[in-house]
Amino acid sequence: MPSRRKKSRQRERILELIQASSGHPTAQTIHEALKSEMPSLSMGTVYRNIRVLLEQGLIASRNFGDGVEHFDPITRIHYHFICERCGSVSDFTMPYQESITKKARKISGTTITGHTIQFYGICKKCTHQKKEDTDERDG
Ligand code: ZN
Ligand code: MN
Repeated sequence: MPSRRKKSRQRERILELIQASSGHPTAQTIHEALKSEMPSLSMGTVYRNIRVLLEQGLIASRNFGDGVEHFDPITRIHYHFICERCGSVSDFTMPYQESITKKARKISGTTITGHTIQFYGICKKCTHQKKEDTDERDG
């Protein structure tokens, strides 16, 4: 049975990992990243700790349509960019467009509390990669 100290240490490391990551990790990637330093860490423990962090409002859960839950250290509403080639998800720094919420309210006549946007395209890394491949072929 893990000690209380060990338990809180595990949760602390899971939170640190999510906070240090800009890539919106999943429970699976969190588990993979921590298993070398914490060999006894199970997927169940990762899930349980994530639920606690969500309840405490320290992280947010995101759905990017790939069927897996992603975790975000930025809990306020913001936009995201999803690469159609590598699937990476990054924060998109466009400010929140309050006018869209207002417009939706006007159109629907219902209570709209907010919105979010996911932009799709090819990330800088993949754009670069493609250029390098082409350069290699041409050169
Ligand atoms: Zn990409
Ligand atoms: Mn985010």
